[in-house]
Parts: sequence; structure tokens; C-alpha cells
Amino acid sequence: MVRPLEGKIALVTGGSRGIGRAVAERLAADGALVAVHYGKNRQAAVETVSSITAQGGTAFAVGADLAAKDGVKTLFAALDDELKARTGASQFDILVNNAGIAPFANFADTTEAILDEIYAVNVKSVFFVAQEASKRLRDGGRVVNVSSVVARTPSPDLIAYSALKAVINNLTQSLAVVLGARSITVNAVAPGAIDTDMAAALVKDPAIAEHLKSQQALKRIGQPEDIADAVGFLASLDARWVTGQTVYVSGGAALTI
Ligand code: NAD
Repeated sequence: MVRPLEGKIALVTGGSRGIGRAVAERLAADGALVAVHYGKNRQAAVETVSSITAQGGTAFAVGADLAAKDGVKTLFAALDDELKARTGASQFDILVNNAGIAPFANFADTTEAILDEIYAVNVKSVFFVAQEASKRLRDGGRVVNVSSVVARTPSPDLIAYSALKAVINNLTQSLAVVLGARSITVNAVAPGAIDTDMAAALVKDPAIAEHLKSQQALKRIGQPEDIADAVGFLASLDARWVTGQTVYVSGGAALTI
């Protein structure tokens, strides 16, 4: 069987669980060597790597707290070391900027500390991970940023998160132009509610889950693989003419008022 990403190398931030894990598994199933980044939970990343290996894929774990001051430097130092040991070079092909946090806080309850942490992980690290990655991405590479439907239709209970996810859509457009001359595409996927630790308080509550489903065209709760398959497409050669786009992968959430 021909695997479309054979010979490619991918970095998935926050690849140890949730959407990131599903993305790491999908890209590995497509033939890529996957760097599974984790923040604090090395064990979760090791489990993801083991699961990929058990299915015939190749992967390794790299750790770095992206909220920390030198988190991006730590990530790329570890990635460079691993890639040089495995391939003799630090180049790679696919970046999936997935790591993120979503603390529930309405306008009145959003403190400076909450906003700063969301900014650090969901915006600042995405920006500088992309900047470091751009020095290493081969021509024809792929960047996929993980945004959210709340970038377009904000949630007042996630007010800072919503506003800062909108930054990702905007950044995706600029980066598509900046990197386009090298045939590197840059897109975002915007999930709706997905059944992960992040959204557990919503999707595990039967009443809230019913409400979420009622607001979607497709009446079920999204799974990490629903996002991973869209990322798999955007990372593939088939998506070569798609760039600067935010693809809403949400089962049709909040399409009408
Ligand atoms: P999750 O909480 O299961 O996973 C988040 C990942 O981010 C983890 O792997 C974690 O290690 C990593 N991370 C968090 N803080 C970090 C830090 N300081 N340093 C390094 N890594 C850190 O959540 P998820 O649902 O899988 O979310 C993945 C992405 O999808 C996020 O960007 C999130 O905003 C986005 N998203 C999720 C949903 C949803 O409903 N689950 C909806 C829309 C968008």
C-alpha cells in the first residue's frame, strides 16, 4: 500500500493526547515520521508513540512547556537533536500547531494571569513555533494551525480564548503569504466541540451535549479523528492548492442564527 506521507517528517505540538494524538496517529498511518510533542506528561507522549509503533508507524516524543519563557527554544533544541540523530539533518515537512488551553472564564472572571497564559500557549507559542519551524521546513511543506469555531462565533464563557483563536485565523493568512513562495501551504482547522479532556465539562454533561448537538447540522459530538482526517488532507499533496484558509471542521456548528 502506498502511504502518501512516506518520507515526510511531521511535528505535532500537544500530540500526546486529544486532537493532537489523533493527528499524530493519522500522519504516522500516512507514512510520516512524527515528533509527538508534549508539555508536561511524558508518559502520555510515550503511550502515543507506542500506539503509533504498534500500528507500524514511526514516532518519537519531544517535551517542552510552551507556557515557559524558553519553551519554544527547548522544543526545537530537542527536535533538532532527535532529527539529526535519525536523519542527519534538522529539516522536516509538516508542522501542526495544536497545543492549546481553554480555561473557562467569562468577561468579569478573566484575570490578567488567565489571559496571559492563554496568550502564551495559544498565540505566542504558535507564532514562534511557526517561526522556528519555517527555518527548518522543506519547500513544499505544510503548516496546519488548530483554531476553533469560537474564532468566528465567540463564546462569552471563553471570551479571551475566543478572541485569541481569531488571531490564529489572521496569522494563518499572513503566514500563507510569507511562506507561499516556497510552496509551503499554511491553513487552519477550526473544530467545534470535540470529545477530549479540554471539552470534557461540556461533552460529558448530557444536557450540554444535547444542546451542542442541537446547534450542529450533523447531530453528534465530534471526535478527535474527525479533526485528524481534515488535518491529514491539508498535510497531503492533494491539498497543494489550498492555502491561507480556515477550514471549519465542526459538523456544521452555528451555521445559522
Ligand atoms: P487537550 O486538553 O486534550 O490537549 C491539549 C494539548 O495541548 C495537550 O497535548 C497538552 O499537552 C498541550 N498543551 C497544553 N498546554 C501546554 C503547554 N503549556 N505546553 C505544551 N503543551 C501544552 O485538548 P484538545 O481538545 O485536544 O485541544 C487541541 C487543540 O484543539 C487546542 O488548540 C484547542 O484549542 C483546539 N480545540 C479544541 C476543541 C475541543 O472541543 N476539544 C475545540 C476547538 C478547538
